[in-house]
Amino acid sequence: MIPTEGDPDELRAMQLHRLQTGLRDVLSTNAFWRARLTGVRGWDDFDRLPLTTKSELIADQAARPPFGTNLTYPLDRYVRLHQTSGSSGDRPLRWLDTSESWDWWQRVWSDHVYPAAGVTAADRVFFAFSFGPFIGFWSAFGGTERLGALAISGAAMTTEQRLRNLFDVGATVLLSTPTYALRMADVARELGLDLATSDVRVTVHAGEPGASIPTTRATIEAAWGATCFDHMGMTELGPTGHSCSQRDGIHAIESEFIFEVVGPDGQPAADGELVATNLGRWGMPLIRYRTGDRVSVSREPCSCGSPFLKLVGGIRGRVDDMFTVRGVNLYPSQVEDIVRRHASVTEFVLEYRRIRQMDEVSLLVEIAGPDTSTERLEADLRQALGVRLGCRVVPTGTLPRSELKSKRLVRVEG
Ligand SMILES: [Zn+2]
Repeated sequence: MIPTEGDPDELRAMQLHRLQTGLRDVLSTNAFWRARLTGVRGWDDFDRLPLTTKSELIADQAARPPFGTNLTYPLDRYVRLHQTSGSSGDRPLRWLDTSESWDWWQRVWSDHVYPAAGVTAADRVFFAFSFGPFIGFWSAFGGTERLGALAISGAAMTTEQRLRNLFDVGATVLLSTPTYALRMADVARELGLDLATSDVRVTVHAGEPGASIPTTRATIEAAWGATCFDHMGMTELGPTGHSCSQRDGIHAIESEFIFEVVGPDGQPAADGELVATNLGRWGMPLIRYRTGDRVSVSREPCSCGSPFLKLVGGIRGRVDDMFTVRGVNLYPSQVEDIVRRHASVTEFVLEYRRIRQMDEVSLLVEIAGPDTSTERLEADLRQALGVRLGCRVVPTGTLPRSELKSKRLVRVEG
């Protein structure tokens, strides 16, 4: 039930109804939530509920291994176990789904994410991804089947094997991280394969903000001859959003989640951290969960017709990935937008050091081709960001490459 006219009161009423219905089971059996809340009679009650953090969940699972106390049903009701990628350096969180909540994940893909990207039952969807314990694209794979499209696993293949496979089977849609789509484009070039001659017409990306960063998106689209879409989701929460034909942000799927944005003090803000409550995953639910993603929100009507709020420019970065150069607060995505304008830069990492109370940030880059000068890049960064960021060229193959989430900001001791 999506309020097609975008009536905010209708949407709010539906959200509250789904929350109250779901909480009935949760508050009678789920020890984690019973310790935190007693009930939600209305929005005033909801606004008073405590915010939930990832570290609370990690502590709960450490205290009551292996799954913690956020369990609404007996263990035999659950049918899938996944875990977070651990890319932020935290201990991985384990997350269980019931068949109902797994069906919900897949339905959000087939009813929201895929239609927004123009993917239909006629498509052949290739997953350039190793299906491991991380939830990654597992739900997208199931959502592909649910849509009636063809789901093609690219697990346990080299990049070259993935590329040849994708041509051979006539894949029309690619799912991968944005960085890995660029990596595939590099390898295709080395192999003399022209991706623009493949049948791929749409790419859908997750795991990193790249597909909402204009330059990264343009680079992917030029290399693949395809239209590039962004998806946002989290192991703990589910599939929370997708970009649209207007291409200036991510719609947050308000029919399946309640979203809020809070400032550092936890109070409502237009620009701040995204907080989400899922409405379809009652076996292991999250209520007012701090995502750690920094966003700014718009409720202006969108040309695509979506009734849902928009995160302008997508996810701006992780709240804890912000770094400061001479008093200017910056996110890795801002640097990425500039770096991707330089085609010779094949990989990059921001190295952050604290030396004698001073923050030192340098940009490490790998450069292809004979000209390894970073003068123009440094000048562009200075002009766009308003501060000087030193660049250092490192030998090709030095920086980590990931098909999962690339970490663009590395904090170094000393
Ligand atoms: Zn839109």
